[in-house]
Amino acid sequence: MPVLKNVISSKQRIKRFITGTPEMIRQTEEIYRAVLGFYLNVIHDNLDKLPEWNRNSGTRALEKLTVRTEPRTNRKTGEKFGGNPNPPYPIDTVWPKFPAYLRRAIIAKAIGMAQSWYSNYRRWLRKKERMQARNERRVAEGKKPIPFDEHPPKYPTAGNVGMTFYKGDFKNLSLKTNTIQLKVWDGYDWRFITVEVEPTSHSRKLHLDDSWEMTVPSIYEKEGLFCLVTAFEKKSNVIKFADYYLSKNPKVLAVDLNLGRRNRAVCALVGKGGTVHKVRHISLAACNTTDVHRLLGLIARDVSGLGIVPKGHRPCKRLWRKVRAVNDNYAHHLSKQLVDLAVEWGARVIVFENLKRFRPDRDKHGSARMRRRIGYWLHRRVIKHTAYKAKVRGILVALIPPKDTSNRCSLCGSLDTSRDGNVLKCRNCSIVHNSHINAAINTGTAWFVREEKRLRQKTA
Ligand SMILES: [Zn+2]
Repeated sequence: MPVLKNVISSKQRIKRFITGTPEMIRQTEEIYRAVLGFYLNVIHDNLDKLPEWNRNSGTRALEKLTVRTEPRTNRKTGEKFGGNPNPPYPIDTVWPKFPAYLRRAIIAKAIGMAQSWYSNYRRWLRKKERMQARNERRVAEGKKPIPFDEHPPKYPTAGNVGMTFYKGDFKNLSLKTNTIQLKVWDGYDWRFITVEVEPTSHSRKLHLDDSWEMTVPSIYEKEGLFCLVTAFEKKSNVIKFADYYLSKNPKVLAVDLNLGRRNRAVCALVGKGGTVHKVRHISLAACNTTDVHRLLGLIARDVSGLGIVPKGHRPCKRLWRKVRAVNDNYAHHLSKQLVDLAVEWGARVIVFENLKRFRPDRDKHGSARMRRRIGYWLHRRVIKHTAYKAKVRGILVALIPPKDTSNRCSLCGSLDTSRDGNVLKCRNCSIVHNSHINAAINTGTAWFVREEKRLRQKTA
């Protein structure tokens, strides 16, 4: 069975503040956004053509619509021919003598933004149609229609977009030096200036070895401060789920996350047919979360006196930020351990349970309710961090629906079980499980069941 290789790329960004007075950068950004906004408007006027455009054909079409070029003269007859003397949307009106390389970069960005919006918009339209069809059925059955109140995605604007510098617009980009040369508008002309940036922290550089390739830099503004963002890319090979399922001895690392008062993850290495090869508990003593619960208590105390909080107002901002920082740190440590374990055990897929949409408990209040909210947030965070860390090492993350994973007996598949804390008893085969290990094994088998189902659908 040939294993198809699927190359994917991972990205890392290093953000450094620009020191000194970036007045010229501010001016350039203004021009950049004005031109980007102009092109977004031109695309909006010609939306019917957008689906056919790619980066090259779109650039050609947009240049035809905006760039004025003088016609050439036939030397013999003196007749004028060619050129584009009267474009419908002349770019000269926005900015005279705009450099061509920058214009092309902006056009590419505008096309990308518009196309990403367009695909979201089409998704929204399809969803709306589905809902309408469903409502017609409901009305025919004598039921109330469900209102569709989702807003369509907004067409993009140039408002908060960062500037990307392509080849030729920048020189001497390196993490070792604290300067970079960028081509900017100095008030009179486009020229290179030297921009000073803060040094890269050692810890950020640690994650970048030679296998990471540096790509183009960009600059973005946040609350009046400018940052230079250096992006790195790395290509890695992963096996698609379907191919891995068909490979010789597929094994998945199934994880049961228990994120509550005491955070723990139980991992099981599950093979085809539900074989359990290995089990391991991961509890991170260094990332004690009791601190978080003390903070949540403080927040609960502060919020309880406020009554109904007006929309858009976020009380306890600083405390929440602290909670998030502690939890994020935990999610980073845990996800690293999970990926290391997958590598050690030779699993090419890590399986998690996907959580249902969060519904706050009606019967719980104060910090208990917030703990559940935080648990949900942390769960998603661990999955997100694991996914990108795994990708770099050629491992994929799978999410399976959380149906009966904690109630089903992993040995006989019976749902006739009773759970008491960490103990799960099966009434069918009268075995006693550790409920977390049982849930992890079920999560792993669920992946194999799903892939088998998909395979059958494909071959049927
Ligand atoms: Zn059983």
